[in-house]
Amino acid sequence: MRIVLVGPPGAGKGTQAAYLAQNLSIPHISTGDLFRANISQGTDLGKQARAYMDAGQLVPDEVTIGMAKDRMAQSDAVNGFLLDGFPRNVGQAEALDVMLKDEGVKLDAVLDLEVPEDEVVKRIAGRRICRGDSAHVFHVTYNPPKTEGVCDACGGELYQRDDDSEETVRTRLEVYHTQTEPIIDYYRVQGLVVTISALGKVADVTARAMEALKTSDEG
Ligand code: AMP
Repeated sequence: MRIVLVGPPGAGKGTQAAYLAQNLSIPHISTGDLFRANISQGTDLGKQARAYMDAGQLVPDEVTIGMAKDRMAQSDAVNGFLLDGFPRNVGQAEALDVMLKDEGVKLDAVLDLEVPEDEVVKRIAGRRICRGDSAHVFHVTYNPPKTEGVCDACGGELYQRDDDSEETVRTRLEVYHTQTEPIIDYYRVQGLVVTISALGKVADVTARAMEALKTSDEG
């Protein structure tokens, strides 16, 4: 399957994407994770992206689209992928359509994770991420690791993202409403959007998402 995951910052896209990708045996492709990996490796791309990310703004399309395209061209993504955080504006959605058309393939679904704004702020404030390869996402209250500060999946150190500060979160939410939300209408016209509530336990949301994807596949 080829799936796009959308939702505001803090909706749980990264958390859900990891489980859904595993259940569906497709790679989880997160442009945010790719940028963070480039930053920690000190690449030119990472240097270009950093200031935008720290400010809560989108990294320019010239940088983002090429990076996403390179990742999708890798062999593990030939038969499907779960995109998390890409596309994030209508220009990127159009570029993705061109890429898919060139390959003669189509998206199967756009999974829209819905969550109220006050919940988003609580989720982001407690979010902790693994520095290791698993890039697993935890929450100090809602999804705590077994040992504080340590990733259950790979033993990596957990940290709080620089752009999870309150001020940056406000900017990210505004960017989501003005630039990313319009892609939901863009995909609705194509009949691809499935909206689910992202409230509740992580496993319950995953089950809800799997059911919604199954139904959309049958439909
Ligand atoms: P995320 O991990 O998906 O929350 O992304 C973190 C940050 O990376 C965003 O706030 C943006 O600055 C940048 N970013 C991730 N994906 C994209 C994208 N598709 N387009 C532009 N910027 C992005």
